[in-house]
Amino acid sequence: MSAEKIKAPRGTFDVLGEQEARRASLETCAREILESAGYERIETPAFEATELFARGVGGSTDIVQKEMYTLTDGSGRSLTLRPEGTAPVCRAYVEHGMHKRPAPVKLWYLSSFFRYERAQAGRYRQFWQVGAEALGSDDPALDAESIALLAELLSQMGVSDVRLRISSLGTREARLRYRELLQGHLRSRQDELSDDVRGRIEMNPLRAFDSDHEGTRTVMQSAPRLLDHLDRGDLEHFAEVRSLLDLAGVAYDVDATLVRGLDYYTRTVFEFTSDALGAQSGVGGGGRYDGLVAELGGPATPGMGWAAGIERILLASESRPENEARLDLFIAVGDTTDRAARGLAFATVTAARAAGLTAQMELAGRSLKGQLGYANKLGARYVATMAAAECVLKDMRSGAEQTLASHAVVASVRDALGAGK
Ligand code: AMP
Repeated sequence: MSAEKIKAPRGTFDVLGEQEARRASLETCAREILESAGYERIETPAFEATELFARGVGGSTDIVQKEMYTLTDGSGRSLTLRPEGTAPVCRAYVEHGMHKRPAPVKLWYLSSFFRYERAQAGRYRQFWQVGAEALGSDDPALDAESIALLAELLSQMGVSDVRLRISSLGTREARLRYRELLQGHLRSRQDELSDDVRGRIEMNPLRAFDSDHEGTRTVMQSAPRLLDHLDRGDLEHFAEVRSLLDLAGVAYDVDATLVRGLDYYTRTVFEFTSDALGAQSGVGGGGRYDGLVAELGGPATPGMGWAAGIERILLASESRPENEARLDLFIAVGDTTDRAARGLAFATVTAARAAGLTAQMELAGRSLKGQLGYANKLGARYVATMAAAECVLKDMRSGAEQTLASHAVVASVRDALGAGK
């Protein structure tokens, strides 16, 4: 009787070869774009004190209420696998006294995050995000720059049918005044709302804008809009962000119903979606969080940032042909029981790699015919077949063969492949 197979947990996935190549090119692209704008990479721990998210993300959010993977460690501390990256980056900013650095402090990350969500295509329980956070400035140019950088990343990655929606949530004070207005509207039409939205009128009325429930949607059509109730300062800030985006040639729609699922946002919020994706169309989004650092015990510090889903970017981008995996040299062994020939093959493959070639040798005891077939499958440019005294080097493109001493193989392939090797 064979043992029962163990599978990866629901909502998780393994990253295998071809996917890994695409992910690596996305990482390189993000690094180039963000570091050229002064962002520095940061990596925070995979788990944090639960309190960080309860306080930072907000107790009324879906994330804190039902999506966190929380555990108690051996000494009774409550820890949570990070569900998002902004609160941990702000925690690190405070912990390392980064407010003493010249502002803005710009940090980027590419890490995995954990949310207990309903798993489906494009929505996982462990997923990866690339994110960028800039702390210490409330300049609207920082908002526009941050948004433009994500637009550039999505464009370079070839994400298709991208749309950008932006809005402003104003300062906390403006939002609190507006909240009461909205609560009044929702209470006056309670009976038409979904149970979920009705239950959240007191805690989180803004989320009613996200509801798919038909009755709720009707009620929301005539709901007061936050954008119509912003202070002058907020309106000017938002107008400046828009005019800078116009100058940068970044297309957007203003969407007064845009509400992001996290409590910490103030002023600018935005979301990129791709029509190439199904129900889970969000590719990335973010906004300003001018109160978060203070909320976490740091000095009052404005901040602006975003996160974009790696899997969603890859799902929504044309699957461009990857650079073909390159194998410069495969070393076959005429007789795999010939220890001397195997030794020579081993020494040659090692020397080839040291000389900067990509090289593999036979390691599975195939017949010579099998080895040549395998080399072909790997796309080898040259195949050297080792025998004790000499070796036959074959150019797999032209079919030309030459016999040479085994110690001359590496130099010969390098020369043939030209300069740069
Ligand atoms: P959020 O942190 O919720 O603003 O999400 C930012 C981006 O991360 C989204 O636009 C998605 O691209 C991605 N994302 C969020 N949650 C998930 C998930 N459960 N699975 C895959 N990607 C996700």
